[in-house]
Amino acid sequence: MRRALLAGNWKLNPASAGEASELARAIKASASAHAEFVQVAIFPPFPWLLGVAETVLDSPVELGAQDCYWEPRGAFTGEVSAAMLQGWCRWVIVGHSERRRLFAETDQVVAKKAAAAIAAGLSTIICVGESEQAFESGRCEEVVQAQVRSALQELAADDSSRLLLAYEPLWAIGTGRSADPEHAYRVMRLIRRTVGECIGEGAARRTRVLYGGSANADSVPSFVELPWCDGCLVGGASLDGAEFSKMIAAAATVYRGRPVA
Ligand code: PEP
Repeated sequence: MRRALLAGNWKLNPASAGEASELARAIKASASAHAEFVQVAIFPPFPWLLGVAETVLDSPVELGAQDCYWEPRGAFTGEVSAAMLQGWCRWVIVGHSERRRLFAETDQVVAKKAAAAIAAGLSTIICVGESEQAFESGRCEEVVQAQVRSALQELAADDSSRLLLAYEPLWAIGTGRSADPEHAYRVMRLIRRTVGECIGEGAARRTRVLYGGSANADSVPSFVELPWCDGCLVGGASLDGAEFSKMIAAAATVYRGRPVA
């Protein structure tokens, strides 16, 4: 049976290594208590990875990086390659809307990062999502489908066991206004169908699809209970150990009640 995935993207937080380890420690108990039903991954900033890795050693909490570069080495100041993350991280996020919007990452860049990350053996969460303007003008599905097609252009069916897509509408990220679950469901279904078109039906079944955007302990059940929703990518609420722990428990309650597949 699949477990729900709760992935905590810490972004440029917290400000010190000590606080990072404290936060990781705060979610260990809940992650351990609910490991049968919920897989927990956290994504600290690069400099905190080592300390957090030590903190979560011997616990079910898995570690991820927030980004990676596609070239394995060379004159690319400031970059960290997917291959360099091997051994430290099981996970990586690529194409987060903040990377796309604030750091001008194009769909082509996201495709290269996704291919390099998967080739390096990392479970790779590719973020897609429409702007508020696209949402309001009814272009959500067109935008998201184009992002998915582009992100998958260098991938094949064999890659799907390490492939995840997160539907993260830009207007829901950090705003406190999460998407209506019915809307999220329709878009996540479209994402899965698009994966099927691009790399095959088997791959579409294996690929995990997440929702992200202002999810918290109150709203997480309404997303993880959706058919074909495999969990949530969580920003702000993952910085609060108590809240994230409640999210883990809430997701576990939903999954515990599911019939065995
Ligand atoms: C995110 O940035 O991926 C995210 C989901 O943020 P938040 O939960 O804060 O909206």
